[in-house]
Amino acid sequence: MRNINSRIYLSSPHMGGDELDYIHDAFAKNWIAPLGANVDGFEKDLQDYSGREHAAVVISGTAALHLALILCGVESGDEVICQSMTFAASANPILYQGAKPVFVDSEAKTWNIDPALLEEAIVDRIQKKGKPKAIIVVHLYGMPAKMEAILRISNKYDIPVIEDAAEALGSSINGQRCGTFGLFSVLSFNGNKIITTSGGGALLSNRKDLIDKSRFLATQARDDAPHYQHSELGFNYRMSNISAGIGRGQMKVLQERISARRRNHDFYFEELGETWLNLLGSTIKDEKRFQVSSFNPKQESPTGIYFLKEPKGCVSNRWLTTILVNPAETNGVTRDDICQALGKKNIESRPLWKPMHLQPLYKDFPYYGRGVSDMLFNYGLCLPSGSNLKDDEREKISGAIKEALKRKQVLT
Ligand SMILES: *Cc1c(COP(=O)(O)O)cnc(C)c1O
Repeated sequence: MRNINSRIYLSSPHMGGDELDYIHDAFAKNWIAPLGANVDGFEKDLQDYSGREHAAVVISGTAALHLALILCGVESGDEVICQSMTFAASANPILYQGAKPVFVDSEAKTWNIDPALLEEAIVDRIQKKGKPKAIIVVHLYGMPAKMEAILRISNKYDIPVIEDAAEALGSSINGQRCGTFGLFSVLSFNGNKIITTSGGGALLSNRKDLIDKSRFLATQARDDAPHYQHSELGFNYRMSNISAGIGRGQMKVLQERISARRRNHDFYFEELGETWLNLLGSTIKDEKRFQVSSFNPKQESPTGIYFLKEPKGCVSNRWLTTILVNPAETNGVTRDDICQALGKKNIESRPLWKPMHLQPLYKDFPYYGRGVSDMLFNYGLCLPSGSNLKDDEREKISGAIKEALKRKQVLT
């Protein structure tokens, strides 16, 4: 029995029911190893779902990103461009390779890498250091990045795109699924993602040679010889047949999981928002050096709470529902006030990702920005968004937020 007073999490695992059958099958056949029918089956499921021709499942999304960088030829001293507004796992594998990240700010329509700044960064790096080896693009919280413009720049300068689709399985642009853009795509099946294998990831590409090579590198780079022989540096990155069994079961309910997350978003929007975010729309286009530090005061939201709209042709899986809280319109109630009010009711919420250029680990690397991701970090909050959230839980959450918004009005 579920206890209504138990903690409500941001995004918790949600099993479908068939996962155990695949695990039992692995036990019955004694394929308790990082290979077997579930590994093959899960890879095929991912190919069929995404439309990518080849997929290799690995222990984590981070491992998949690391392999992608190696296969892009990233070596010590090279530069790699990375979206600043993301989770550290997008950037950390750059350092694993001894390479240097160059961070780029987001644009306000999708919160993902700004194509204009991306090009500015490429041109500047070519002048100063030489051409970056890869571009890591993220679909933050499931919202697709501006892939058309990004891929045009990638082609123009001949720099491969690594698509970090860890949060975006099930999102699409004009019907094309996220996880199929760029030379490589990366998925994550960590416990908090839209589907989970407890921990896991996948590397996808249309290039068979590259995915074959990723499997070779992920299994200790063993040469074709009767003894153990190694000419290259390998890793132990392959996914276990047990985890892959969970993945096969989860793939059967993926579509339901996406619908449930989208319903969460629509519920919050109707309860709290009523206003799509369109801040900065024209200002940032017109003025290249415009610095964003807060909301445009001309925004008029009945509640001071803003949501991100899907651009035309884009579908977000709404992995997490995110809001921006404008204290100028809430009588001073801030994102942190709301986060604390939720915490008191045992409801988990969290500020948006802290951009990489603000992280102590990364603050000394080059950054090209105009303040958009700083603003998002200052005003943004992730709300509980699990596909297993119940109606009464969602009502409890929106009720707590409304209460927090009201309380300050009484005080002022
Ligand atoms: C979760 C996540 C990753 C890393 O995936 P793991 O499977 O946890 O290693 C990478 N990038 C983004 C944007 C993520 O959200």
